[in-house]
Amino acid sequence: MVIIDGKKISALIKEEIKKEVEDRKAKGLQPPHLAAVLVGTDGASQTYVNSKVLACEKVGFTSTLVKEKDSISEAQLIQIIDQLNNDSSVDGYIVQLPLPKHIDEQKILMAVDPNKDVDGFHPFNFGKMALEMPTFIPATPFGIMELLKRYDIEVASKHCVVIGRSHIVGRPISILISQKKKYANATVTLAHSRTINLDHLTRSADIIITALGRPEFLKADMVKEGSVVIDVGITRVSDSNAKRGYVLKGDVDFEGVSKKAKAITPVPGGVGPMTIAMLLKNTLLASERKVVRLDAVS
Ligand code: NAD
Repeated sequence: MVIIDGKKISALIKEEIKKEVEDRKAKGLQPPHLAAVLVGTDGASQTYVNSKVLACEKVGFTSTLVKEKDSISEAQLIQIIDQLNNDSSVDGYIVQLPLPKHIDEQKILMAVDPNKDVDGFHPFNFGKMALEMPTFIPATPFGIMELLKRYDIEVASKHCVVIGRSHIVGRPISILISQKKKYANATVTLAHSRTINLDHLTRSADIIITALGRPEFLKADMVKEGSVVIDVGITRVSDSNAKRGYVLKGDVDFEGVSKKAKAITPVPGGVGPMTIAMLLKNTLLASERKVVRLDAVS
């Protein structure tokens, strides 16, 4: 059984990015610049944003953190988005989700300049992804595809069951892994909360991708021998013995499933670290594409 080590692969990717940034700086070019907008004080969101900013520093990017109070209005947030769209020093930016209830997330995501949408959430980029055109691929599914590639996992013609149909993970990975390209070409079943006989489906799957946010949902008796299991879930589960008062759990009962799987991602240390690495990759791409766009108009 192979443990797919997202921590190791993400460190490799970050090294590759760091090298590119150094090469760029040596040529007198600016390093890529990622900005992050954080609204409110949600603990998990703060942790995610802080790790993104720290990762930027480690690879030599410039980073900007825009922090706003929960009480910010939708119009004020759109104003900030406009500023970021018009700031030529910013190559790409993210708006950390979820946003407070009084703000329409879709409206905010639609306001992001697609050229700076390094999360790949704008419908323009999502559409391009679905049509196999070059674009920004949402970081988590992008990270999963990269893990399959770097571990040389056989995907073509395999039956892949994706559990969860969110716009940021389940839906895009179901599209990507069925596309006509290397490390894809799978036959996909996209399962969700209304799916019946899910265990019947998962038992017929060669590859299972879980993105539902239910700790240890996928049990050993739901998978067949020799399957590949990618666990996207991250849930904080209270644990008074843990230093922080909680532990992180994936959607897979790792203990049981790893005994049957051919390859499996752990939580933490699997898909999670890949998400940040691929966000950096998208930012690098955004800055390269900006240079191409500027060249085209000059
Ligand atoms: P979500 O929370 O928006 O939606 C959950 C999905 O699971 C829904 O589509 C729902 O239909 C499905 N679902 C719920 N219960 C189900 C059941 N019993 N059977 C089948 N399907 C069921 O999804 P999300 O935002 O993709 O998040 C899913 C998990 O992935 C969460 O734990 C989240 O924290 C984690 N996540 C991790 C990363 C990462 O970087 N590793 C990134 C994004 C999300």
